[in-house]
Amino acid sequence: MMQTVYQKCIDPKCGLEYPVSDPRIECDRGHLLDVKYKTHPSPALKEVFYKRRNHANNIFNESGVWRFRELLNFCQIDTEDTDACSRFLVSMDGAEGRLSKPYHMSKVADFVGLEHENFWLQPEGYNPSGSFKDNGMSTAVTHAKLVNIKKIICASTGNTSASAAMYAANENIECDVYIPAGEVAPGKLSQAFQFGAQVIEIKGNFDDALSTSLEKANEIGGYTVNSVNPFRIEGQKTIIFRALERLDWNPPDWIVYPGGALGNTSSCGKSLMELYEWGWIKKIPRIAVVNSEGANTLHTLYNGKFQETKLRWNKGNPDTEIIKKFYLYMDENGIRPKTKATAIQIAKPANILKGLRALEFTNGVVTQVSDQEMMDGMALVGLNGFDCEMASGAVPAGVKKLRDEGIIKKDDTVIGILTGRQKDSSIPVDYHKNPNNKFANPPRT
Ligand SMILES: [Zn+2]
Repeated sequence: MMQTVYQKCIDPKCGLEYPVSDPRIECDRGHLLDVKYKTHPSPALKEVFYKRRNHANNIFNESGVWRFRELLNFCQIDTEDTDACSRFLVSMDGAEGRLSKPYHMSKVADFVGLEHENFWLQPEGYNPSGSFKDNGMSTAVTHAKLVNIKKIICASTGNTSASAAMYAANENIECDVYIPAGEVAPGKLSQAFQFGAQVIEIKGNFDDALSTSLEKANEIGGYTVNSVNPFRIEGQKTIIFRALERLDWNPPDWIVYPGGALGNTSSCGKSLMELYEWGWIKKIPRIAVVNSEGANTLHTLYNGKFQETKLRWNKGNPDTEIIKKFYLYMDENGIRPKTKATAIQIAKPANILKGLRALEFTNGVVTQVSDQEMMDGMALVGLNGFDCEMASGAVPAGVKKLRDEGIIKKDDTVIGILTGRQKDSSIPVDYHKNPNNKFANPPRT
């Protein structure tokens, strides 16, 4: 068969290429990889995707990931052949992405200062393991199966391990998860145990857990399913496909994400670059990334708050020295990421370069918000009848901040991604018991 899909180093000065069957996560020179497609899918597929919403018990049409399978066909299968789909594509019976789409949330729109009809939030917490990770995990585990892997490995602040463990259990493969001891929400840790993963506790934070897990994967030949895996990014593109489909493929002015390891920012950028190149969209929405003030590496570097250098992708020539200097500065000064929003408590975002590329392509911005602002955002989403975790509260908080600063304009259209469901019940309970909180509804006695 002619190979129309391959992997390519993201550094344009390097550009090493590998076959899709190679399980590596970086090029020989240590750069991240992209999955590349030689074919340009026809915009006529928009109609096919729409019709598949009436899925007629085909789980690959029901799945919000595999419904768009022509746009991530790295298995190079006949996408209309259900037997081939069943043999190759990993799915939780069609559940990943199935309930995720943008919703209007009027109370949040009022709070952030946008017109109701111009503002949507897309809850990814209604995925089977409770976060956006299932989008990319279904594709990463599909690739793991394609290359005959028997054990997957990840580091996690909680959501990745829950998702990896769930898919591993369903596919009957082994799963090791490296977590920072004491830094994972109880509901997330319980999922990893429940789904039968081997939990390995690391003293330190997520960044330490990630470096340990990457070393172990090399040592024992495990397959890393963190977002440095380019096949994770492929599945996460569908978050954007679903959002754009809801808007008849007319992009909004803004797409807003919380900023952690920057896998989401990367996948958003890749999906927009591809759709634009393929002629599916004419307009490029701007990405806004919202860091926590306690874990704000991207905000610091992007906005020139360290050594007065604004870090940019710079057409493939980013100043990687400034990143190294900043990481060294954090290490030497004992600066550790600290936020109650543990999902984004990450100081060394593994996808920072792909994230920068996405920000450059979309003329993006990076802001930061406090823990209090995230909790207020989370609570307000709840008052619209939707559940989300504290890190997702960064989205309404960040949109409000950018509106107040006049960066997002009053008439702009905005889609925000709510990345995960609440898995630490103590956060909303404590929030509402404290009458000083903006949206608290304390219990009566
Ligand atoms: Zn390279």
